[in-house]
Amino acid sequence: MNIQDLIRPTIKALKPYSSARDEFQGNDDVMVFLDANENPFQNGVNRYPDPQQRALKSILTEIKGVSENHILLGNGSDEVLDLIFRAFCEPNVDNIITLPPTYGMYSVLAHINAIQIKEVALNEDFQPNTKAILDAQNKNSKLLFICSPNNPTANDIDAGKIETLIKTFKGIVIVDEAYIDFSKQESWVSRLVEFPNLIVTQTLSKAYGMAGIRLGICYASAEIISVLNRIKPPYNVNALTQQRAIEQLTNKEIVKNQIDAVLKERDILISELRAIPFVSKIYPSHANFVLIKVDDATKRYHELIEKGIIIRNRTTQYGCENCLRLTVGTKEENAKLIRALSSISKS
Ligand SMILES: *Cc1c(COP(=O)(O)O)cnc(C)c1O
Repeated sequence: MNIQDLIRPTIKALKPYSSARDEFQGNDDVMVFLDANENPFQNGVNRYPDPQQRALKSILTEIKGVSENHILLGNGSDEVLDLIFRAFCEPNVDNIITLPPTYGMYSVLAHINAIQIKEVALNEDFQPNTKAILDAQNKNSKLLFICSPNNPTANDIDAGKIETLIKTFKGIVIVDEAYIDFSKQESWVSRLVEFPNLIVTQTLSKAYGMAGIRLGICYASAEIISVLNRIKPPYNVNALTQQRAIEQLTNKEIVKNQIDAVLKERDILISELRAIPFVSKIYPSHANFVLIKVDDATKRYHELIEKGIIIRNRTTQYGCENCLRLTVGTKEENAKLIRALSSISKS
């Protein structure tokens, strides 16, 4: 597969903006920087951040075992996904394939970028229909989005099916691993070298507990990363985000303990949900949330709001009629949810 053939002609021809910090990197203590029209009085954030986030990437390199030229960082996964659209999808010409029910941002970004969406539904077990997906693609199908574990269904997507799709889809396959740290499945990051058309996205928003700093991570071949680097806003990851991410990634024990705690609480929550009469189905979860089917999702959703508990009503999503998505909270929060559900069921 020739990745160059998939890139938009405008992007291939683009001469990227060269920022002051791209042109010269050096030690703040010994050099005098008069090149970026910054305010010279030090306050911790008066300088532009490193556009290549070198310190942060070097930590990720150790943790994930990938070299820096295979990593691009963004202002949340949302920015990373948007960059992928802008690199590969020609507005009003190209299309993408999504597998509903899945994460809503893929289709929102497609609409923003004027890209047609071909939806190929997951089957009853929320697994992809590989044949239907390959039948749906045409010469303008640039991206295929696979979310594993999938949101809102919470299940892992079968690794064998993902591999088949990466090998046979004629465009770029994006495996969104926002919830991978909760799953027993191996990350596709370890298989990047085998597949030039594979992009893996991760985030610090979920298991790492840093939704507020907005840090999305994209792993791909050096060829794809260099294209995305050309089009990203020069200073897209701010200095405070880089700092806090470095601190949290260095705290491996805290993150691991929190993941273990959430998984333990998830299993307790699932066993308690079984005793709620109007819960008719609890879908298998490999993430930090649970999808359940109830008698009347909209009614139950509003009853919980009355009790001060906000969950997500997913009833309008394909294949999710009367389904609610519950994020696993702390022990106390989950207990409050279960108490509310029991009292609703008795009223
Ligand atoms: C939460 C989530 C993300 C994370 O997005 P950020 O912009 O990094 O916060 C990405 N993909 C999926 C499927 C998610 O559920």
